[in-house]
This record gives sequence, structure tokens and C-alpha cells, in this order.
Amino acid sequence: MLILAGKPVVESLAPALEQQISAFKKASGRSPRLDVVLVGDDPASQIYVRNKHREATRLGISSQVHSFPSSADRLDVRALVERLNRDDGVDGILIQRPLPRSFSLSEVSQWVLPSKDVDAFHPELLGRLALGFPGLAPCTPQGILALLAHYKVEVAGKVACVVGRSPIVGKPLSYMLLNANASVIQCHSRTGKLESLTSQADLLFVAAGVPRLIGRQHVRPGAVVIDVGIHRMPDGGLGGDVRMDEISDLASAASPVPGGVGPLTIFMLMRNVVAAAQARLDTATGASVRHS
Ligand code: NAD
Repeated sequence: MLILAGKPVVESLAPALEQQISAFKKASGRSPRLDVVLVGDDPASQIYVRNKHREATRLGISSQVHSFPSSADRLDVRALVERLNRDDGVDGILIQRPLPRSFSLSEVSQWVLPSKDVDAFHPELLGRLALGFPGLAPCTPQGILALLAHYKVEVAGKVACVVGRSPIVGKPLSYMLLNANASVIQCHSRTGKLESLTSQADLLFVAAGVPRLIGRQHVRPGAVVIDVGIHRMPDGGLGGDVRMDEISDLASAASPVPGGVGPLTIFMLMRNVVAAAQARLDTATGASVRHS
């Protein structure tokens, strides 16, 4: 079984992004800028935000974190986001999830302007993706498509099965696969007989958030399996949604956890920031608009 590691993919894509960043700096006289809004003290979110800040800094993207306590009034958070939307020096805005319960996801997902929404949560962006129109796209599905492209896994004409239908992974991933000419089966928590659908797939994507959900009976011999899930396992290590030990002599290729999809997600976020910055610069200077 071929191991689809994420790091070599990032390494192969990084020079082009670095070149884009230096061209942007030359043309605009400033760095692309990402602003992250963090509400509450979820420890995992704090680690994710720190990692994003570190990666942005490494690439020469300026990054600001705006922290609120979990008791923050949503109107205050919204006022900050509106200020960042209007700020010409800000290219990308990300509201870190999970948010406290008092925040409605359908409301929050419309706060960031679609042109600055580097997480691509805005309903307009999901609509654009569904229709195959240009626009910022969610980072994890973009990373998955980049992983497949790097390892020359054919998508067109294949049967793809996506387990999970979240607005940030499962749904946009299905649209991307469909746009890349796969035939897509979508599974979710209410799917009956999961294995009867997953076992039809040439390409199986698992983003259920359930540790070790997928085993031998779910996988078609020779399938390519992409494990998106990431969990702290009882032994203290990290693991995914797939029982890799059961499928290593069955699948033709699989992405590991950790070290598969994860490194690509953060890289695609940085790519979205640069794409957003460049598109705004092109609009300001009257050049043709480029999208990620
Ligand atoms: P989510 O909880 O929002 O969605 C999970 C989806 O899985 C839902 O649509 C649900 O219907 C489906 N599901 C749940 N139980 C199921 C079951 N038993 N059978 C079939 N479907 C089931 O989660 P999410 O944000 O989409 O994330 C999914 C997983 O991917 C999580 O483990 C998350 O940590 C991980 N993740 C990893 C990265 C990364 O960069 N590696 C990025 C995003 C998410």
C-alpha cells in the first residue's frame, strides 16, 4: 500500500507560493495579511491558531490574532469582523471554530466578506463551488485534491465515496470531486449499511470524526483511502477515522494520520490568504482578477 504523505506535497507546492508572496510584496509594498478571531479558551483551538500564526510568519505573511473571552458578546465580535472587512490592509479573515453556543453558525458564516473568507464558510462560496464558479474554497478539501494530484491518483471517471457531510469538509469535498468528474456517493450519520456504499468506491474519503470507524469490510480491494479524521487516541497518540492496520494489504494507497491531510490544510489556508490578497490587489489596480 502506497502511503500518501502530505509533507512532500507541501514541499513541492511551497516554492510557487513563496514566489507569489514575493511578487505580491513587490507590487503592493506590503505583506499579505491574515487576521484570526479566537473566541474562548478551547485548548485545541489555541494550538491551531498558534500553528497558523507560525506558518504564516514562516512564509512572510503577516498575521494578527484577536482574542475574546468565551463570555464575549457576539455583537462585539461581529463589530470587529466588520471593521476587518472594511480594513484595506487585511486580506484574509478567519473565525476559529468551535465557537461558544451563543453564536449561531448560520449567522457567523455570513460575517466575513466572501472576498476575505479564507476558510470559505460563507454560503456564497459554497454556492460558487457547487456551481464550479471561481472563488475561495475550503482548505481541507483543497488539500485532499492536491494530495491526489501529487500522487497521480486519477479522479475523473472514478466512483468516489465521501463519509461525512459537514459544511467545511464533506460537502465541499463532494462538490470538488464532482467538478473533477468523479461519480460521488455521500454518506453521513444517518446512512444505513455504510459498508454497502463505501465498498463500491475506487476513492474513499473519510471525514466522520469517529475514531477507527472504517475497517476492512468498508474498503474495496485496490481502493485509495483518504483519512481526514484526527483524534487523540487512548494510548496518547494521534489517530484517524480508519483502522489502517486492517486495510494495509487491501487498499492500493492511503493517507496516514498524522502526516497525511493535516499538513496540507494549513498550507491551503496560506494559499487562500495569498489568493485573496492578489485578487484584491488586481481589483484595485484594474488587472484581471485571479482566484485560487
Ligand atoms: P463534523 O462533526 O462537522 O462532521 C462529521 C460528519 O460525519 C457529519 O456530517 C456526520 O453526519 C458524519 N458522521 C458522523 N458519524 C458518522 C457515522 N457513524 N457514519 C457515517 N457518517 C458519520 O466534522 P468535520 O469538521 O467534517 O471533521 C471530520 C473529522 O475530520 C474530524 O475528526 C476533524 O477533526 C477532522 N478534520 C481534520 C482536518 C485536517 O486538516 N486533518 C481538517 C478538518 C477536520
